[in-house]
Amino acid sequence: MAGAASDTSSLEAASPFELRVDGSAAVPEPDMRAAIKSGDMGFLHSFTTGSTVDGPGVRLVAWTTLCMFRCQFCHNPDTWTLHNGIPVTLGRATEEIRKYATGLKAMGGGLTISGGEPLMQARFVARLFAAAKQLRVHTAIESNGFYGERLSDEELEDIDLFILDMKGFTEAQHKRVTNGIANATVIAFARRLAALRRPMWLRYVLVPGLTDVESEMEQIAAFGASLGVVERAEILPFHKMGEYKWLRLGLDYTLTTTEPPTAEAVASAIAIFRAAGLNAL
Ligand code: SF4
Repeated sequence: MAGAASDTSSLEAASPFELRVDGSAAVPEPDMRAAIKSGDMGFLHSFTTGSTVDGPGVRLVAWTTLCMFRCQFCHNPDTWTLHNGIPVTLGRATEEIRKYATGLKAMGGGLTISGGEPLMQARFVARLFAAAKQLRVHTAIESNGFYGERLSDEELEDIDLFILDMKGFTEAQHKRVTNGIANATVIAFARRLAALRRPMWLRYVLVPGLTDVESEMEQIAAFGASLGVVERAEILPFHKMGEYKWLRLGLDYTLTTTEPPTAEAVASAIAIFRAAGLNAL
């Protein structure tokens, strides 16, 4: 592939908050489409090491590019387009996991694939998880769940933990938070994971004036509890570490005057999830 020339770019980043653009500018469109179809190559913002917040233990995180949700609070809008990702062969990505495998196991961690929306590169992601399992590394995905049907039941078995980011429960709220995207497939995917008894964490970003809607949180909490596989629910306080990316990318950031939630607001949100019987924090 023509993009292979870029396969020597620096893949590791200090954090996902590094702004990265045009990583695959040299990759012709047909090669990109072929890569998406085969999974021979993925497009990544970066790999980061040492994360303690993206699954159990200490984790290597692969940050994929491409996402169509365009959540108002997204802190990585540079991951929205494939073109901003660095082209990475499956072999190179596997080597990255192999490099850290022993340490990850010793620290009770593993590999997390986040993004962007990982399942927009489902073939690459499924094959990378299979490679990680060959190396006996714990695997987790952080996903908005919209494209869950792109993974077969067999492929889902290669993923030890599903971290499902829920943006809203009602369609109206989901559309409000995202770029007008409905969430029926998200709910259906969560139910499928539950039927398959796959371990799940729920994540909910608490944004004052946008997602601090009690009825939405109550419905997500009740839904999560009904699944019977949710091991924890995490309330993530909104922050502005990604605001500069919106500005640098010329995007219209709607939360400039929004402040992070107060400690009391976070505690109230946690209480709602706990009241439904979930292990919330
Ligand atoms: S789903 Fe995640 S990556 Fe996609 S726009 Fe929303 S916050 Fe950003």
